[in-house]
Amino acid sequence: MTTTARTLSEPEPLVPLAGLVRSVQTPDFAGITFHEVLAKSALNRVPKTSGMPFSWTVNPYRGCSHACVYCFARKTHSYLNLDTGLDFDSQVVVKTNVGDVLGREVSKASWAREHVAMGTNTDPYQRAEGRYRLMPDIIRALADSGTPFSILTKGTLLSRDIPLLKRAGTQVSVGMGISLAVLDPDLAHAVEPGTPTPRARVDLITRLRNAGLPCGVMAMPILPWLTDSDEALDALFGALAAAGATGVSAGALHLRPGAREWYLEWLAKTHPTLIGRYRRLYRGGTYASSEYRAWLSERVRVHRRRHGLSAGARFFREDAGAPGTARPDQRTVPEAVTEPTLF
Ligand code: SF4
Repeated sequence: MTTTARTLSEPEPLVPLAGLVRSVQTPDFAGITFHEVLAKSALNRVPKTSGMPFSWTVNPYRGCSHACVYCFARKTHSYLNLDTGLDFDSQVVVKTNVGDVLGREVSKASWAREHVAMGTNTDPYQRAEGRYRLMPDIIRALADSGTPFSILTKGTLLSRDIPLLKRAGTQVSVGMGISLAVLDPDLAHAVEPGTPTPRARVDLITRLRNAGLPCGVMAMPILPWLTDSDEALDALFGALAAAGATGVSAGALHLRPGAREWYLEWLAKTHPTLIGRYRRLYRGGTYASSEYRAWLSERVRVHRRRHGLSAGARFFREDAGAPGTARPDQRTVPEAVTEPTLF
């Protein structure tokens, strides 16, 4: 693989990242800069006030080339003095030593082997994982230390690690989740331009199930007027059931600061007639109206039942972060978003 090393003084809009070793661009990942850092810690504690059903996360990457326009992990890039738009998609921080550091952390006598969730901030199987191969060491460190874990992803690169995950499943509880809410390939390409196709993700569910692993689905975000029709929900839930999904969580789009500007800009370009409706539905806030969310919950319940699907697994909560539930303090733990970006 050909690479060119860059320094912080060179033209890219880089910032003094803690632990930065080098910044790399390579022809295999056109338009993306990887900032390789040595992390001091791997485990992030989730604030108790978050309302999340897990206490720890591991995030090998910051930024995500899957580039979903609705992604509300975008905000976390601003903590790195990078912008929440294109920089989030193309300036990816890579913790190259995350497996070693995690191995040391989970081998401490004080480690209580609580559940560790991955995919709660950015996608651990985004394209960078093909180059850096960080997940195998993470999986081994957790499984060998007796630490239960879950992974949520849109990345079909996960299939590379199915044998490892099967082995881990004999050692600890392993939760697997695929994020898939947009079945229409053209719409998916528009709204999640860096992700594997919906078909590829459906096939990944089947591969996981055929390997004997459980596989829940996070069908979120459902996009008002774009993917919330009975036809769209029926097609989605039907495809998930046929693929063997073991449960589905679904919920409406959230428009947090950082994602809101990006999503609405995309909507104005691609579906300008919907802008007024969105304005009325979200009233400048993060959440769709309670009436809409109640309506959608009912439609989800109906389609779930029709296709014999259960509600999401323990680590796939559709309502996390919505009004009435506590939310994490992103200022004190900017990396541990722990909201349903993916879960
Ligand atoms: S929603 Fe998930 S997969 Fe999409 S850009 Fe954000 S972190 Fe990546």
